[in-house]
Amino acid sequence: MIWPAHPGLEGARVLGLLWQLERSQWWTPERLAERQLVQLRRLLEHAGAHVPLYRERFARAGFDPRAGVTWDAFRRLPLLERHEIQETGEALCSEAPPPRHGRIRTAHTSGSTGRPISVRVSEATGFYWRVFSVREHLWRDRDFYARYAMIDTGAADGEYRGWDAALGAAFWTGAIVTLGSERPIAEQARWLLRRSPAYLQTYPSNLAGLARYFVDHGLLLPRLREARTYGEVLPGDTRALARRAWGVPVTDFYSCRELGPIALQCPRYEHLHVQSESVVVEVLDDAGEPCPPGAVGRVVLTGLTGYAMPLVRYAIGDYAEVGPPCPCGRGLPVLRRVLGRQRNLVTLPDGSRHWPTFPAEGWLAVAPVRQLRLVQRSVTHIEVEYTAPRTLAPGEQQRLAQWLCGRLGHSFRIAFTRVAAIARAPNGKFEDFVSEIAR
Ligand SMILES: [Zn+2]
Repeated sequence: MIWPAHPGLEGARVLGLLWQLERSQWWTPERLAERQLVQLRRLLEHAGAHVPLYRERFARAGFDPRAGVTWDAFRRLPLLERHEIQETGEALCSEAPPPRHGRIRTAHTSGSTGRPISVRVSEATGFYWRVFSVREHLWRDRDFYARYAMIDTGAADGEYRGWDAALGAAFWTGAIVTLGSERPIAEQARWLLRRSPAYLQTYPSNLAGLARYFVDHGLLLPRLREARTYGEVLPGDTRALARRAWGVPVTDFYSCRELGPIALQCPRYEHLHVQSESVVVEVLDDAGEPCPPGAVGRVVLTGLTGYAMPLVRYAIGDYAEVGPPCPCGRGLPVLRRVLGRQRNLVTLPDGSRHWPTFPAEGWLAVAPVRQLRLVQRSVTHIEVEYTAPRTLAPGEQQRLAQWLCGRLGHSFRIAFTRVAAIARAPNGKFEDFVSEIAR
């Protein structure tokens, strides 16, 4: 049978979960929260019984999930910091993971600072995560027969038959072509011209580098329909840049190695919808209270499917802005944008802090710079590394410093160094601004 098709076992499982997600996305926020609480209670019961760290924590807090879980009680539980995952290790792992959740693998996330954390993920959890990526494909209404290109850290130069396993289990898909993001931009560009994909997935900084290369060299990708970004904060100007280079929209995807998909871009707007069926997302102010729409706070995550290593109220280190309910009608909560980490905050001499952004059209207008990276060394001093075909003249440096100070909100002392290439973080990601004093 080709039509209507008769899915195999794995396809049936994917479609079975998708069918539920197709419905739950339209539920009211109240109904979603109610179902989350039912699942949360199950997870916390398991954590309290079988995970040493939570057994001890819950006992100390006088919290017994078997007696029922309310949102108030949940929000009083202590946060789990990243360094605690690094330090506690085994104490966070379940002594009796449910056998039906399948084999457990260990995933390592090196992070931008190079301090790795290890998390355990069951087959069941991995399956949930993959189905959310299928949801994302369906939200964008992508043409599954078209060619998909992915430029990712450490990826081999290759061509494979299906886009990915979960999608392929339920739908026919075309080929995926992959390349390592460590390759020079010019080489990536030649590869893209040869492959001519309909979709391109890569990091925002890599996408911006490619878009600028295509604009500078007057090159086109006539088949490209959409760019898809993940893994780093998407700067506001990258969407405009992709439109200028290829005439395509950018779709962003907020996820992490520890907890899989966190929020997907709305099919109709540029903000993100929290994936409430997989993760509880809290955005908290400095006092630990939930932020109202329009406010920025710390992102705190609780995975709903991770029994092998429950992460309860995990402060991942990101900051995000809460958005109002979405006019598209989905009840999934809205994150208006993800702003990055504490170390991406600039601190001014008066003690105030904000997340600076450096739209490329600004610096391109004053100097022939290809890429910039700023490091704040003190409240008065910032060092800038840049790549460019030649060293900037003193006048260009002065104009660039002036523009940067405008973006930073203060007249910092700025020192420039031209480098052959700007080093990426150990996880292959790029941050254009890092503060050494933000803590
Ligand atoms: Zn929406």
